[in-house]
Amino acid sequence: MFPEIIGIEAGQNSELATRIVDRVKAGNPEVAIKPYKFGSPTILDIPTGTPKKSKDHARWENAKKALILRKKLERPESGGLRFLHVFVSVNNVVESYQFTLSIENECPYSCQFCYIQGSLAEKPIPTIFINVQDKGVLLREVKIALLAMHMHTQTHGIEHNIGWQQQSWVHKLIGLLNKTLPAEIKDIPIQQMFDDNKVDITKALSASKLDILKPVEEKLDDFDFSNLTDKFKFNCGEINDALVYDHLTDNSKFLVELFSSSAMKDDGAVLLFRTKSANFKNLKKMTHGENVRVSSTVLPKTFVTGPPDYIERIKGANELLALGYQISLNVDPMILTADTVSTYKKIIDDIKTHIDFKSPNLHHIIIGMLRFGSKNLDNNIRKRHVGLYGHAKRNMTKVKGDEKYRYDRDKRVEIYKGLLGYINSEMPGVEVELSTEPVDVWRDVGLSWE
Ligand code: SF4
Repeated sequence: MFPEIIGIEAGQNSELATRIVDRVKAGNPEVAIKPYKFGSPTILDIPTGTPKKSKDHARWENAKKALILRKKLERPESGGLRFLHVFVSVNNVVESYQFTLSIENECPYSCQFCYIQGSLAEKPIPTIFINVQDKGVLLREVKIALLAMHMHTQTHGIEHNIGWQQQSWVHKLIGLLNKTLPAEIKDIPIQQMFDDNKVDITKALSASKLDILKPVEEKLDDFDFSNLTDKFKFNCGEINDALVYDHLTDNSKFLVELFSSSAMKDDGAVLLFRTKSANFKNLKKMTHGENVRVSSTVLPKTFVTGPPDYIERIKGANELLALGYQISLNVDPMILTADTVSTYKKIIDDIKTHIDFKSPNLHHIIIGMLRFGSKNLDNNIRKRHVGLYGHAKRNMTKVKGDEKYRYDRDKRVEIYKGLLGYINSEMPGVEVELSTEPVDVWRDVGLSWE
């Protein structure tokens, strides 16, 4: 995983930027280093004469071999934070409350079904944000995010997902706290941070013209952050693969140190690395808190090139399990075959063989089926991956009230039930969750989201 081309923004000489360039040069001395300007024409060398109908595929394929190094900018829509935003899920889909932690964009692996092609359609080149390790910046964002989310749940309770409206509510509160709290924040419990700044927060809330924040103002004296039980994930593998570039960045070392303090744990922060790599070298050397989770995706290579064999990934995850990390295994997205349950029972068998499934640190197994946002399917998958597009068109539909193309609901329920029964019989006691499915599908499969 050493790129052939690096595009680097002018003036980027942080310790992280230098480390990445040095390590890439050591791993691939032939790397071409080019200046990069945000929004400028591409750094890719796509062969001239590429037929029009293959241009989009060629761009995607070539993008995987390149890497951009740039600063992550503040995002006004996320309350002015750079690296964090509230992950949103909508309608009846079950999804725990969590933050996306953007250390990178995109990924050098080539999974044709990757949903990131939808959100980053025009930015297909993997990108590392070289200011993420800047002193105190991410710590401040995490503290603000935790305080805002706890204020939200103590005001509104917790539903099966947060939805657009409540996502915006938390972002607005983050915006207010971001402007009100000091520029430097230490790693202290959020109760203390709240108490130390309560006068300023009160003033800011009463001066705010945002009606949606009035319930916070009314509740200000009732908030209690001292014995928190709600936990919120900070997922650094939502729009990227969390560990695929860890040998270049050491981001895992930085993040594990940041999240492993007792203040972070007591405040309900859970750091999540979601990965298809087996790049676990740094994690194996770390002393970590019990609030670090690694979610390893375990799938056959259908429509996928790049990641190591899934047996290697399971074995790596098992080593981390023995080192006290919380582990979850993602069998997602499953692709419909002539006998889908049998196809994926084989994966369950391999998990059973290579994972200490009786370990209390095995958090759960997640099962999910292929789905596509409609714009991603029609705009990107259609142009880039003809075979996968054909599969989707033959087997998937979008029903009213759902924003995604999915396989038939009854078929999904039947497959989930078959696999759930198999996991229960082969690995009793292991919890199973569904990925991105509505409340009623959970219920029909025999699972509860609460
Ligand atoms: S490993 Fe994950 S992030 Fe990378 S291409 Fe595959 S699905 Fe996308």
